[in-house]
Amino acid sequence: MARFQVPDGWTAQAYRFALDPTPAQGRAIRSHCGAARFAHNHMLALVKAVTAQRAAERSYGVPENELTPALGWSLVALRKPWNSRKGAVAPWWAQNSKEAYSSGLDGLARGLDAWSTSRTGQRAGGKVGFPRFKSKHRAVNSVRFTTGAIRVAPDRHHVVLPVLGSIHTHESTRKLARRIEAGTARILSATVKCEGGRWYCAFGVIVEGKQRSARRVQSAYPIVGIDVGVKDLLVVAAPDSAEIERVSAPKPLTAAQMTLRVLQRKAARQQGRWNPVSQTRHDPSRRWLRTQARIAKTHARVANIRRNELHTATTRLARNHDVIVVEDLNVTGMGRGGGAYKRGLNRAIGDAALGRIAALLGYKTSWNQTRLVTSDRWFPSTRTCSRCQAITKLALRDRVYHCRNGCPPIDRDTNAAINLARLGDTTDFGDVTGTGTGSSPAASVTAGEGRGANRKTCPTEWVGQAGGVETSTPHRRGLVGRTGTASSQGGAA
Ligand SMILES: [Zn+2]
Repeated sequence: MARFQVPDGWTAQAYRFALDPTPAQGRAIRSHCGAARFAHNHMLALVKAVTAQRAAERSYGVPENELTPALGWSLVALRKPWNSRKGAVAPWWAQNSKEAYSSGLDGLARGLDAWSTSRTGQRAGGKVGFPRFKSKHRAVNSVRFTTGAIRVAPDRHHVVLPVLGSIHTHESTRKLARRIEAGTARILSATVKCEGGRWYCAFGVIVEGKQRSARRVQSAYPIVGIDVGVKDLLVVAAPDSAEIERVSAPKPLTAAQMTLRVLQRKAARQQGRWNPVSQTRHDPSRRWLRTQARIAKTHARVANIRRNELHTATTRLARNHDVIVVEDLNVTGMGRGGGAYKRGLNRAIGDAALGRIAALLGYKTSWNQTRLVTSDRWFPSTRTCSRCQAITKLALRDRVYHCRNGCPPIDRDTNAAINLARLGDTTDFGDVTGTGTGSSPAASVTAGEGRGANRKTCPTEWVGQAGGVETSTPHRRGLVGRTGTASSQGGAA
């Protein structure tokens, strides 16, 4: 799929603002999201029908050139039949911006492309399924505008979107407005999306001159390693065995997670969409719907607190240190197998945080002209002793590392962070070209792009030593001590 090329010296970035639409505007936004969903579902049905028809005709022995004409799967190809059909299937289409339908078709085109490239092995990452119909009850309400009047109003408290008009923002848009006024930013698109009961507008923007080395602060520790966890969000350490800082999960986060637990238990007692007795679907009660809305809102709050925490921490780190080393995230590398310890909530949160931190540090280090180093996915950061380099197994719940050679006990996360930092110390930066391939055997350096090339094979010297599961604690006692299985699977993958 052709992608927009960001000009040299410019950076693609998003600016997201919470909206405060009037009730009428709220209805109009929902109508646009519904229009996008309708176009998506209608054309998906057509794509399926045409495909099935051609398959049936082939089975009757109809020659290839007399088959029902195939339907193109690109946005342009989908838009044409949609425009000729919309008068009949959606006589109300003129009420919404044409961009709404286009955004639904764009989503479908991307989904079809992802499916077909995934099937033929041209696409990295996990397997992608065939696009599915979007449900009014489940799909996220979202609509994207790429042409027409898209701008931030000069009063810095309104955004202007096609057909929807001027919508009040909950927060000031000055950060984007200033750049647009100075001519160093250009808006490419605007996505309006509902999250946790609130509307947001995210502008896709290209920004000039984002590199700002002038603002850098020189820390006493140029090289640091970061261990990402759940209880403590981040532990930062230097190669000389000093723990520099520890960012623990903020109190409001813990409070919000407690609320979430209470609400989920409450919802379980109410009448939901599924009747467990008769094993059928039924209409949920109003109270259940109300609880669901509160759950969604609390989830959004948890995500906001976490996002804020990660942003402030990564900005500070990217500005202060020359080289930052993080663990590689091995979500797909470890395979699907494994016990419950691989599926636990803590692991999911830990992996999500690690992925997020690596992504944030990727672009923030490039803005500040510092470096991000990703450890190889089989680097045993948690199990190596930071004093004598011996490898000692430790259970997932062990918070303190006890070396088998009798070194004094050390905090598990600090130990891992020190090992990662040492990796940064020994990494040869030589000719880093920004592709993330110039590296020592144990790490890949990423400068600029924020995405390193991930090696999928295990270095032989680490087979049978390295553990992949490090960010979580076990949920069942019986699983303790099974860390070793993860490494053998990793080696076999
Ligand atoms: Zn030791």
